Amino acid sequence: MDAAGGELAGRLSAIRERISAAAIRSGRRPEDIRLIAVTKGVDSARVRQAIDLGVDAIGENRVQEARAKLLDIGRGPGSGVEWHMVGHLQTNKVRAALEIFDVIQSLDRWKLASELDAHARKRGMPVDALVQVKVSDEETKSGLDPSEVLDFVSRVAAELPGLRIVGLMGIAPYFDDPEKTRPYFRRVRVLGLMIEEARIPGVAMQYLSMGMTNDFEVAIEEGSNMVRIGTGIFGPRR
Ligand SMILES: *Cc1c(COP(=O)(O)O)cnc(C)c1O
Repeated sequence: MDAAGGELAGRLSAIRERISAAAIRSGRRPEDIRLIAVTKGVDSARVRQAIDLGVDAIGENRVQEARAKLLDIGRGPGSGVEWHMVGHLQTNKVRAALEIFDVIQSLDRWKLASELDAHARKRGMPVDALVQVKVSDEETKSGLDPSEVLDFVSRVAAELPGLRIVGLMGIAPYFDDPEKTRPYFRRVRVLGLMIEEARIPGVAMQYLSMGMTNDFEVAIEEGSNMVRIGTGIFGPRR
């Protein structure tokens, strides 16, 4: 492995240790926290190295970029490496997205849900999705308003059999002090509990996808079991 590969290995193991420590601090098992390595802006060779180092879930935010890497790396759905869509998904890219991604983490509107459902049914295999919740007031962040999430999930479960809702995804605003993200993550967690308590047939709140490089430890303490980390593993994006 080259020098950059060694650096990658070092950063990855440091992140894994911090994930473990945060899990144990919050009374959970390290292996219950899923690490999604976010590889936007990272070239295929690096992504392959990360996979060789044991990364088994890749997050991308653009269909085209993900497709190019998947072609280079040659591992698609069912290969043991999961590909997660974490960015805004245009409805006209749904078909292409379903050829690449195992999980759509950015389900944020009905139109997208019905499009995913239609294509997933056509291919004969449901698609797993997390509902993206808008927990901050930042205009730039997408996601469903928290007050709409329960109805949305109920309606998907009732009307769209091609779509399986397996959890929620939330992005906290950026703060220099990650401690300040805590109330945002807590809001997502409470919403997840509320949905669980509604016992909607076919809906399991299996994942709370919360936490990025700057705030994943706080997110885990607040109940996240899926963290999406880019910079912390691959270094600063250019
Ligand atoms: C880029 C991105 C991440 C990773 O961000 P880092 O700060 O580099 O860890 C996580 N989630 C989403 C939705 C992203 O777009």
